[in-house]
Amino acid sequence: MVQVNQDRVLFDRARAVIPGGVSSPVRAFGSVGGTPLFIAEATGPYVVDANGDTFVDLVCSWGPALLGHAHPEVVAAVRDAAGRGLSFGAPTAAEVELAEAIRARVPVAEQVRFVSTGTEATMTAVRLARGATGRDVIVKFAGCYHGHSDALLAAAGSGVATQGLPGSAGVTAAAAADTVVVAYNDLAAVERVFAQQGDRIAAVITEAAPANMGVVPPAPGFNAALRDIASRHGALLILDEVLTGFRVGPGGWLGLEGGYAPDIVTFGKVVGGGMPLAALGGRAELMQLLAPVGPVYQAGTLSGNPLATAAGLATLHLADDAVYGLVDRRSLELQAAVGEALRRESVPHVIQSAGSLFSVFFRDGDVGDYEAAKAQDQTAFGRFFHAMLQEGVALPPSAFEAWFLSAAHDDRAMERVYAALPLAARAVASG
Ligand SMILES: *Cc1c(COP(=O)(O)O)cnc(C)c1O
Repeated sequence: MVQVNQDRVLFDRARAVIPGGVSSPVRAFGSVGGTPLFIAEATGPYVVDANGDTFVDLVCSWGPALLGHAHPEVVAAVRDAAGRGLSFGAPTAAEVELAEAIRARVPVAEQVRFVSTGTEATMTAVRLARGATGRDVIVKFAGCYHGHSDALLAAAGSGVATQGLPGSAGVTAAAAADTVVVAYNDLAAVERVFAQQGDRIAAVITEAAPANMGVVPPAPGFNAALRDIASRHGALLILDEVLTGFRVGPGGWLGLEGGYAPDIVTFGKVVGGGMPLAALGGRAELMQLLAPVGPVYQAGTLSGNPLATAAGLATLHLADDAVYGLVDRRSLELQAAVGEALRRESVPHVIQSAGSLFSVFFRDGDVGDYEAAKAQDQTAFGRFFHAMLQEGVALPPSAFEAWFLSAAHDDRAMERVYAALPLAARAVASG
């Protein structure tokens, strides 16, 4: 009897009622081909698809699942909160606790505003920077992804990169004109832009350590130099830690790197523990420009949602040094294993990391910016991806995304990944 592929059945139904069959573009497997897994459930390091097949998950919900899927204490916290009501449209004690927990880990976030998505966090940060400076222009870096608000879509990473798009239709010329895009890690270019129009620039926004064009760590001193350049011209520095925050360490990338202070930091992903919650934080006097204290308007019916704050609080509470140590160690082991498997088959590659985040570029030579990231063999990644999937390992379905581990990735799960790597390397080499 021929087995019916339930993922395929669902994908066909989905495409009839949802554009591309997905609620976010990269999920559609567009760049790797084939049928996306429709996830039925997930626990620890594993996801189970609609066919009932189990995969070791190296997507981890694109970051949030730092503790693994359905961590019992996080689930219990959400269940408890749900029993007390789903949403109030009023402040709660849990929001205060979560803001305090964030400030304890990232002291520059003296005050915190909660929103529901990373997109909202960066969009609000940009509005706040414009409100604070009375200026319009935002400087961003090619290949950095900051969510899908109009001002930040130009030359963006993540799904925009995966689909090979320059930006997005539907963004007005005016919105695009207020965004200046600079090559990543190119301080001379940043200096030039500021020399030309420094008095019009409200802020420079950067991923703390870019991981949406693959992982491209900042050159030593790059972020600190951005701080310095922005300050000299009266502009703000927005450090986007939506991906790195509370993932690469207790204080995010800022906690690892230190030595400079951004004006605004944005959080998402891990801070919500898998629920829709994100935040922006900064100096109190700056944050108080937000309504209701100040003139910069920002609001949200579901902002600070009690289930999401419960998940975030439980996650931060559990994410101790042991968790970060374990994820760091797993990451180093996996990077070494991937490198060895690809070397054995003489597959051109470079593995780049930022803390526990890493990605594999199928090309020779270091990748310092988006142009270099694009000059990789995406078809090689596709072959690698599908060979891993065949062996029960789910990688992010794009050559432009980081691989994610969790503290739940135990020896058993990792053995399965290690067993799959030689086969996947061979699949790339044999073309
Ligand atoms: C994921 C991401 C965002 C957008 O967050 P959403 O919750 O998907 O809107 C913004 N910035 C960075 C660096 C991200 O990785």
